[in-house]
Amino acid sequence: MGNNNAGCLSIFFPFLKLFAKNSVEKEVFPYAKRDDFLSPAELSFYKVLRQAIGEKIMICPKVGLKDIFFVKSKDRSIYMTYHNKIDRKHVDFLLCRFDTLEPICGIELDDSSHQKKARVERDTFVDEVFNVAQLPLLRFKHERSYVFTDVKEKLYSILNVKDINGNNAGKENITEEGIPLCPKCGIPMVKRIVSRGENKGKEFYGCSNFPKCRQIKEFVKG
Ligand SMILES: [Zn+2]
Repeated sequence: MGNNNAGCLSIFFPFLKLFAKNSVEKEVFPYAKRDDFLSPAELSFYKVLRQAIGEKIMICPKVGLKDIFFVKSKDRSIYMTYHNKIDRKHVDFLLCRFDTLEPICGIELDDSSHQKKARVERDTFVDEVFNVAQLPLLRFKHERSYVFTDVKEKLYSILNVKDINGNNAGKENITEEGIPLCPKCGIPMVKRIVSRGENKGKEFYGCSNFPKCRQIKEFVKG
Protein backbone atom coordinates (compact mmCIF):
# COMPACT_ATOMS: atom_id res chain seq x y z
CA MET A 1 0.00 0.00 0.00
CA GLY A 2 2.84 2.39 1.00
CA ASN A 3 4.61 1.63 -2.28
CA ASN A 4 1.48 2.43 -4.22
CA ASN A 5 1.22 5.82 -2.55
CA ALA A 6 4.80 6.63 -3.48
CA GLY A 7 4.01 5.61 -7.07
CA CYS A 8 0.98 7.88 -7.11
CA LEU A 9 3.04 10.79 -5.87
CA SER A 10 5.73 10.32 -8.50
CA ILE A 11 3.07 10.24 -11.21
CA PHE A 12 1.29 13.32 -9.98
CA PHE A 13 4.35 15.32 -9.00
CA PRO A 14 5.19 16.56 -12.54
CA PHE A 15 1.64 17.88 -12.92
CA LEU A 16 1.91 19.68 -9.62
CA LYS A 17 5.17 21.25 -10.77
CA LEU A 18 3.64 22.30 -14.10
CA PHE A 19 0.71 23.81 -12.30
CA ALA A 20 3.02 25.85 -10.09
CA LYS A 21 4.91 27.12 -13.15
CA ASN A 22 1.74 28.16 -14.99
CA SER A 23 0.51 30.12 -12.03
CA VAL A 24 3.46 32.54 -12.55
CA GLU A 25 2.33 35.49 -14.66
CA LYS A 26 3.18 35.00 -18.35
CA GLU A 27 5.42 37.63 -19.92
CA VAL A 28 3.49 39.57 -22.57
CA PHE A 29 5.61 40.79 -25.47
CA PRO A 30 4.74 44.32 -26.63
CA TYR A 31 4.85 43.56 -30.38
CA ALA A 32 2.41 44.31 -33.20
CA LYS A 33 2.62 43.90 -36.97
CA ARG A 34 3.60 47.08 -38.82
CA ASP A 35 1.23 48.38 -41.48
CA ASP A 36 4.05 50.15 -43.30
CA PHE A 37 6.43 47.31 -44.16
CA LEU A 38 7.06 49.25 -47.36
CA SER A 39 6.49 52.99 -47.55
CA PRO A 40 4.04 54.17 -50.25
CA ALA A 41 7.04 55.28 -52.35
CA GLU A 42 8.76 51.92 -51.99
CA LEU A 43 5.56 50.06 -52.79
CA SER A 44 4.87 52.04 -55.95
CA PHE A 45 8.46 51.52 -57.08
CA TYR A 46 8.21 47.80 -56.28
CA LYS A 47 5.22 47.50 -58.62
CA VAL A 48 7.13 49.17 -61.46
CA LEU A 49 10.12 46.96 -60.75
CA ARG A 50 7.97 43.83 -60.75
CA GLN A 51 6.54 44.75 -64.11
CA ALA A 52 9.92 45.70 -65.57
CA ILE A 53 11.84 42.55 -64.76
CA GLY A 54 9.17 39.89 -65.14
CA GLU A 55 8.97 36.65 -63.21
CA LYS A 56 12.49 35.33 -63.70
CA ILE A 57 14.03 37.47 -61.02
CA MET A 58 13.15 37.61 -57.34
CA ILE A 59 12.80 40.99 -55.68
CA CYS A 60 13.67 40.94 -51.98
CA PRO A 61 12.86 44.17 -50.15
CA LYS A 62 14.90 45.49 -47.21
CA VAL A 63 17.81 43.13 -47.12
CA GLY A 64 20.49 43.60 -44.47
CA LEU A 65 23.98 44.23 -45.85
CA LYS A 66 25.33 41.60 -43.45
CA ASP A 67 23.12 39.03 -45.19
CA ILE A 68 24.59 39.94 -48.58
CA PHE A 69 28.23 40.58 -47.71
CA PHE A 70 30.78 39.23 -45.29
CA VAL A 71 34.14 40.45 -44.00
CA LYS A 72 36.72 38.28 -45.71
CA SER A 73 39.56 39.10 -43.28
CA LYS A 74 40.48 36.50 -40.67
CA ASP A 75 41.82 39.25 -38.35
CA ARG A 76 39.35 39.46 -35.45
CA SER A 77 39.64 43.22 -34.97
CA ILE A 78 39.31 44.00 -38.70
CA TYR A 79 36.40 41.57 -38.82
CA MET A 80 34.52 43.28 -35.98
CA THR A 81 35.22 46.82 -37.20
CA TYR A 82 33.95 46.14 -40.71
CA HIS A 83 31.17 43.81 -39.67
CA ASN A 84 29.81 46.54 -37.37
CA LYS A 85 29.80 49.00 -40.28
CA ILE A 86 27.36 46.82 -42.26
CA ASP A 87 25.52 45.27 -39.32
CA ARG A 88 22.57 47.66 -39.20
CA LYS A 89 22.37 48.88 -42.78
CA HIS A 90 20.10 47.52 -45.45
CA VAL A 91 19.52 47.96 -49.14
CA ASP A 92 15.99 48.86 -50.32
CA PHE A 93 15.72 45.98 -52.80
CA LEU A 94 17.91 43.07 -53.75
CA LEU A 95 17.35 41.31 -57.07
CA CYS A 96 18.17 37.60 -56.95
CA ARG A 97 18.18 34.72 -59.40
CA PHE A 98 14.84 32.99 -59.12
CA ASP A 99 16.24 29.45 -58.85
CA THR A 100 19.23 29.88 -56.53
CA LEU A 101 18.40 33.25 -54.96
CA GLU A 102 21.94 34.34 -55.72
CA PRO A 103 22.13 38.15 -55.46
CA ILE A 104 22.39 39.86 -58.86
CA CYS A 105 21.93 43.54 -58.13
CA GLY A 106 21.01 45.93 -55.32
CA ILE A 107 18.58 48.79 -55.75
CA GLU A 108 18.34 51.96 -53.70
CA LEU A 109 15.46 54.37 -53.89
CA ASP A 110 16.78 57.84 -53.16
CA ASP A 111 14.40 60.40 -51.70
CA SER A 112 15.24 63.96 -50.66
CA SER A 113 16.85 62.69 -47.41
CA HIS A 114 19.66 61.34 -49.57
CA GLN A 115 21.01 64.88 -49.91
CA LYS A 116 21.64 65.28 -46.18
CA LYS A 117 25.30 65.04 -45.12
CA ALA A 118 24.96 61.91 -42.95
CA ARG A 119 22.95 60.24 -45.66
CA VAL A 120 25.47 61.11 -48.37
CA GLU A 121 28.24 59.58 -46.24
CA ARG A 122 26.15 56.46 -45.70
CA ASP A 123 25.38 56.20 -49.44
CA THR A 124 29.04 56.60 -50.40
CA PHE A 125 29.94 53.83 -47.96
CA VAL A 126 27.24 51.49 -49.30
CA ASP A 127 28.28 52.22 -52.90
CA GLU A 128 31.84 51.22 -52.06
CA VAL A 129 30.77 48.00 -50.31
CA PHE A 130 28.85 46.92 -53.42
CA ASN A 131 31.74 48.03 -55.61
CA VAL A 132 34.47 46.02 -53.86
CA ALA A 133 32.23 42.96 -53.68
CA GLN A 134 31.51 43.36 -57.41
CA LEU A 135 27.76 43.44 -57.00
CA PRO A 136 26.04 46.14 -59.06
CA LEU A 137 23.99 48.74 -57.20
CA LEU A 138 21.44 50.85 -59.03
CA ARG A 139 20.07 54.08 -57.62
CA PHE A 140 16.70 55.43 -58.66
CA LYS A 141 15.51 58.87 -57.69
CA HIS A 142 12.18 58.81 -55.92
CA GLU A 143 9.52 60.13 -58.31
CA ARG A 144 5.79 60.58 -58.05
CA SER A 145 5.52 58.28 -61.02
CA TYR A 146 8.20 56.36 -62.83
CA VAL A 147 8.78 56.22 -66.54
CA PHE A 148 8.48 52.50 -66.98
CA THR A 149 10.82 52.30 -69.98
CA ASP A 150 13.55 54.25 -68.11
CA VAL A 151 13.46 51.81 -65.21
CA LYS A 152 13.48 48.84 -67.57
CA GLU A 153 16.39 50.22 -69.61
CA LYS A 154 18.51 50.91 -66.53
CA LEU A 155 17.82 47.45 -65.13
CA TYR A 156 18.59 45.62 -68.33
CA SER A 157 21.83 47.52 -68.88
CA ILE A 158 22.99 45.89 -65.63
CA LEU A 159 21.33 42.51 -65.95
CA ASN A 160 22.69 41.91 -69.45
CA VAL A 161 26.25 42.77 -68.55
CA LYS A 162 26.38 40.84 -65.31
CA ASP A 163 27.02 37.15 -65.73
CA ILE A 164 23.86 35.82 -64.15
CA ASN A 165 25.55 32.46 -63.69
CA GLY A 166 27.51 34.21 -61.00
CA ASN A 167 31.10 33.32 -61.80
CA ASN A 168 32.89 36.47 -60.77
CA ALA A 169 36.15 34.81 -59.78
CA GLY A 170 39.18 37.03 -60.08
CA LYS A 171 42.69 36.30 -61.21
CA GLU A 172 44.45 33.14 -60.01
CA ASN A 173 47.15 33.40 -57.37
CA ILE A 174 49.15 30.97 -55.25
CA THR A 175 51.31 31.22 -52.12
CA GLU A 176 55.03 30.36 -52.11
CA GLU A 177 54.08 26.89 -50.81
CA GLY A 178 51.88 26.40 -53.84
CA ILE A 179 48.61 26.78 -51.98
CA PRO A 180 46.02 28.64 -54.05
CA LEU A 181 44.61 31.91 -52.74
CA CYS A 182 40.86 32.29 -52.79
CA PRO A 183 40.13 34.49 -55.82
CA LYS A 184 37.41 36.26 -53.87
CA CYS A 185 38.98 36.64 -50.41
CA GLY A 186 42.71 36.66 -51.28
CA ILE A 187 43.53 34.27 -48.40
CA PRO A 188 45.10 30.78 -48.62
CA MET A 189 42.57 28.05 -49.30
CA VAL A 190 42.41 24.82 -47.31
CA LYS A 191 42.58 21.25 -48.57
CA ARG A 192 39.33 19.36 -48.27
CA ILE A 193 38.05 15.94 -49.29
CA VAL A 194 34.77 15.29 -51.05
CA SER A 195 32.72 13.37 -48.49
CA ARG A 196 30.01 11.93 -50.70
CA GLY A 197 28.76 11.46 -54.22
CA GLU A 198 30.61 10.17 -57.24
CA ASN A 199 33.72 12.25 -56.46
CA LYS A 200 33.95 10.89 -52.89
CA GLY A 201 37.55 10.86 -51.62
CA LYS A 202 38.73 13.38 -54.19
CA GLU A 203 40.81 16.26 -52.78
CA PHE A 204 40.12 19.89 -53.55
CA TYR A 205 40.86 23.34 -52.19
CA GLY A 206 38.06 25.29 -50.56
CA CYS A 207 37.98 28.78 -49.10
CA SER A 208 38.45 28.91 -45.33
CA ASN A 209 35.59 31.41 -45.21
CA PHE A 210 33.17 28.61 -46.23
CA PRO A 211 30.13 28.69 -46.22
CA LYS A 212 30.13 32.48 -46.69
CA CYS A 213 32.52 31.96 -49.59
CA ARG A 214 32.06 28.85 -51.74
CA GLN A 215 35.06 29.25 -54.04
CA ILE A 216 36.76 25.94 -54.81
CA LYS A 217 39.77 24.85 -56.83
CA GLU A 218 40.61 21.41 -58.10
CA PHE A 219 43.52 19.77 -56.31
CA VAL A 220 46.27 18.80 -58.71
CA LYS A 221 48.84 16.38 -57.28
CA GLY A 222 52.34 17.81 -57.83
ZN1 LIG B 1 36.92 32.99 -50.29
